[in-house]
Amino acid sequence: MMKVSKFGRKITTQSGIGQLMDDLALALAESQDILMLGGGNPAHIPAVQSCFRKSMQKLLDSGREFERAIGDYDPPQGNRQFIETVADLLGREFGWQIGPENIALTNGSQSAFFILFNVFAGCFETGGDKKILLPLAPEYIGYADVGLAEDLFISNRPRIEYVDEHIFKYHIDFDRLEVSDRIGAICVSRPTNPTGNVLTDGEIERLSGLAAARDIPLIIDNAYGTPFPNIIFTEAKPIWNRNTIVCMSLSKLGLPATRTGIVIANEDVIELVSKINAVLNLSPPGLGAAIATSLVRSGEIIRMSRDIIKPFYQKKAVLALEQLCEQLKGVDFYIHKPEGAFFLWLWLKDLPVTTEQLYQRLKERKVLVVPGCYFFPGLKEDWQHKHQCIRISYARDEKTVTAGLKIIAEEVKKAYRRP
Ligand code: PLP
Repeated sequence: MMKVSKFGRKITTQSGIGQLMDDLALALAESQDILMLGGGNPAHIPAVQSCFRKSMQKLLDSGREFERAIGDYDPPQGNRQFIETVADLLGREFGWQIGPENIALTNGSQSAFFILFNVFAGCFETGGDKKILLPLAPEYIGYADVGLAEDLFISNRPRIEYVDEHIFKYHIDFDRLEVSDRIGAICVSRPTNPTGNVLTDGEIERLSGLAAARDIPLIIDNAYGTPFPNIIFTEAKPIWNRNTIVCMSLSKLGLPATRTGIVIANEDVIELVSKINAVLNLSPPGLGAAIATSLVRSGEIIRMSRDIIKPFYQKKAVLALEQLCEQLKGVDFYIHKPEGAFFLWLWLKDLPVTTEQLYQRLKERKVLVVPGCYFFPGLKEDWQHKHQCIRISYARDEKTVTAGLKIIAEEVKKAYRRP
């Protein structure tokens, strides 16, 4: 058995989600006819892909730009041209007072979370350790295992609002939320993966106030948010200030393979991220930035997000919601109000089996979803709700989603009849 350090052990120990992802990959490899409603992959939208193809073609035809994009390391902060155009865009769109010194690129936003969480939480020289506060669980599964220290997260149960007979919405339960001096930063995804929730402007303002009062950052994971990819179906005011770190990404726009994360923060944080980039990666990937620069400069990225990407997913959300509600008639079910991202979060209150068991049964019927229990990093208490939800992606083509939802409803009904 190979000897590895504590770090090696921790980061390679099979996490729940790691096992699940292997399981999903294996199921996909073994069978062609799997209905994949489990992943976080964005859709391949032809009109969007053709835009990227054109932009890539322009790079190829431009003389030296393609050669530069693949032949040079960018600085550790990321491609200067792209950073400048993004700063201009955010200034134009939102009036944010930011310059290139407020932006760094990372190897996907996933790696930004690795950097930020381990910098603001963990063991401190002043003694003691600090935690990342997730004020509303369920929260993004990808945070769960990035901590170098054990138990990096503390999270909070939500308040549940019943919107109508079958729709509910989570809110931050501020009465239970404690921002003690053990908290190093607060983080929320908005829109939220897995639920499609969009925290209200009021909630964000309150979190921002709490973070400012403690002089800690509020990290807003904007992977699905405005101004791109803009997979957000409600009104939500974007905020940035010196205490806020906004993390964006080109992934959900349709460029996940280029691994381009964008961190917007005060100069000190940007310097820190750049220095860590240098150590971990020398420099962040540049090809996504090269493809997207002209789209950001012309504002095409905003039009594409507003006129193609958002309506594309919104239509799918409405259809999936209608279909699932229709199929589940007669069952006591709730679905989180889909306000953004591309998931339905189904809550089956009195299901006689856990959703981990339901996941297994669905897998046997060749439908892949993600059981809800993985989306509660940092929530220690034993809350039944963790085992009553599943996440269903509706990003795939209509035929796959329709067929998958039908089987999900059949298995749910079966479980009620014969636990
Ligand atoms: N944040 C959220 C909420 C996500 O859903 C994802 C990917 O699924 C990420 C961050 C990470 O995306 P990437 O590393 O591709 O930018």
